[in-house]
Amino acid sequence: MKFRVHDIEAAAKELRYEEPTQELAPLLARPVADFSLPPKLTVNVNYYRAGNDLFFEGRVDGDVKGTCSRCLEEYTFPLALEFTFVFAPHSERNPEPDLEEDDADLSFYEGDEVDLSPLLRDQILLALPTRPICSESCAGLCPQCGANRNVTSCDCHAEEGDPRLAILRKLKVRA
Ligand SMILES: [Zn+2]
Ligand SMILES: [Zn+2]
Repeated sequence: MKFRVHDIEAAAKELRYEEPTQELAPLLARPVADFSLPPKLTVNVNYYRAGNDLFFEGRVDGDVKGTCSRCLEEYTFPLALEFTFVFAPHSERNPEPDLEEDDADLSFYEGDEVDLSPLLRDQILLALPTRPICSESCAGLCPQCGANRNVTSCDCHAEEGDPRLAILRKLKVRA
């Protein structure tokens, strides 16, 4: 979403719009597609200026689908990403300004437009968990029979303790 610099005033304005996600899809298509985004995310943003600095504060909402890395089930979770972006005019600061760690969200603009989309895309990618898990308490799949332990229990648990005992038990069954 592009904003015209001249339309940004000292008095904050509010905007709600839909941000398409199709440019993000290829970035998410890793060997195993862990996440899929809805075609559009909803952005609510407040924007205003202080002198020539432009401020954008808001949030991105939408339901993300993940494939749990433990139980392999698909699950949905809300993105609920909050953001703050500050744009300073490029010309006023010399080519490589000394950026402090705190200025990580500081960007620069030139001309009459600022584009939030690339910044939002970065933030969305960062907001996704590194490893999708449907729930912290997900019990995953049984490594032996593949049963989803969240929905069913299997008889394999006893064999987990000591692998040598497991072999003995198998021998007994055969005998
Ligand atoms: Zn799971
Ligand atoms: Zn099992």
